Amino acid sequence: MTNDTPAIRLAGLRKSFGAVEAVAGIDLEIADGEFFSMLGPSGSGKTTVLRLIAGFEQPTAGTVTLSGREVTRLAPFERDVNTVFQDYALFPHMSVLQNVEYGLKVRKVSRRERRERAAQALATVRLEGYGVRRPSELSGGQRQRVALARALVNRPRVLLLDEPLGALDLKLREQMQVELKQIQRDAGITFVFVTHDQEEALTMSDRVAVFDSGRIAQVGTPLDIYESPSTSFVAGFVGTSNLLSGSVARDLIGRSGTFSVRPEKIDISKEGHAGTVAEVIYAGPVTRFVVDLDAGARVVVVEQNRRTGSAAAALRGATVRLSWDEEHVIEISEAAGSAVGDVVENKVENKEDADAA
Ligand code: ATP
Repeated sequence: MTNDTPAIRLAGLRKSFGAVEAVAGIDLEIADGEFFSMLGPSGSGKTTVLRLIAGFEQPTAGTVTLSGREVTRLAPFERDVNTVFQDYALFPHMSVLQNVEYGLKVRKVSRRERRERAAQALATVRLEGYGVRRPSELSGGQRQRVALARALVNRPRVLLLDEPLGALDLKLREQMQVELKQIQRDAGITFVFVTHDQEEALTMSDRVAVFDSGRIAQVGTPLDIYESPSTSFVAGFVGTSNLLSGSVARDLIGRSGTFSVRPEKIDISKEGHAGTVAEVIYAGPVTRFVVDLDAGARVVVVEQNRRTGSAAAALRGATVRLSWDEEHVIEISEAAGSAVGDVVENKVENKEDADAA
C-alpha cells in the first residue's frame, strides 16, 4: 500500500430504506490523513453514508473500500474505523480511565499496555489527571473529549465523527473545533466529519462534500466551495448567496444566466445600482443590510462595523447605491438545483422569483 491509496473509496454507493432513497449514488475518494467534512441539510444522507462506511448499514448497491481493501460485506468490528457519535454515551458507573480503556479490555490487551495507551489518549485530548473522575463530574466539552479519547485509544486509521460538537454551546464548540483539528493533525488520522454547520465545515476541513438529497452536489476545498459554488444549491447552503437570474441578471450583470455575489463583496457606495434599504440587522462585528434593488432583486450586504451601529441603523429606508467588482460575480452553471429554496434558509431569492412563486 502506498500513501496514494485513498483511505476511503466509495463507488456507486446507494442505500434505500423502503421508498426513501437516502443515498442516491455516491462516488468519492478520501485521502489518507485528510480532514474531510460532509455538509448538508437535515435528511440529505450524510449520516447514512457514515454508517455505510462504518458497516452499521449494508448498501443497496455499490462498494466501500478502506485503504485498498473492499469491506462492503464486513461487520463493523472487522473494519479499521471508529465512530464518535453526538450522544457520546459514556458508561456512567465507570471512571474516565475505565471508559477509555474499555475497548482495549474487550480486545484482551494487557493491563499494562491498556493503562499506557489510555493515559496517552487522555493526554492527546488534554485531560491528563482526569482519569479518576466519573463522567458526571465533567463538563460537556470534557465528556466529548473523553468520547474522542475512547476512539483514539484504538488507533484507528479512520475516525468517523457524526455531529460530535452538536450538543455543545457556541463558545465550547469553537474551542473544540480548534482542538479537534489539532488532534487530527498530530495523530495523522483520517477524519470524516458530519455536520450541518457550514462555518464549522469551512474552518476545519481540508475538503468538504456538500450533500443534496442523497447526492454530492460539490466536493472541494473550503475555498472552492465558497468562492466557486457549482450549483445554486451549494451557493445558497454555504454562506449567504445573492442569486441573480433572468431579467435581473441581464440588467445588473449584463448577461443572461444565474449569478451569485456574496454579501461581503458588495459595497454601499456613491455609484452603482440604486436600491432601498429594507432592513438593517446589527450583529456585533458586522451589520447586514437587506436592500431592494430597483432592478427587482433583494440582496444582502454585509459590512464590518467600522462605523458605529447607530450610523448603520440610520440607513433603514434610505436610498443607496450598490457596487461590486466584476471578479466577484460567480457564474453558476447549473441553476436548477433539486432543493433550491427548500431548506436553504439563508438564501435570498430574487424578488422577481419570489413574486412569481
Ligand atoms: P441529519 O443532519 O438530520 O442527521 P442526514 O443528512 O444525516 O440528516 P440521514 O440520517 O442520512 O440524513 O437520512 C437520509 C434519509 O434517509 C432521510 O430521509 C431519513 O429519514 C432516511 N433514513 C435514514 N435512516 C433510516 C432508517 N433506518 N429507516 C428509514 N429511513 C431512514
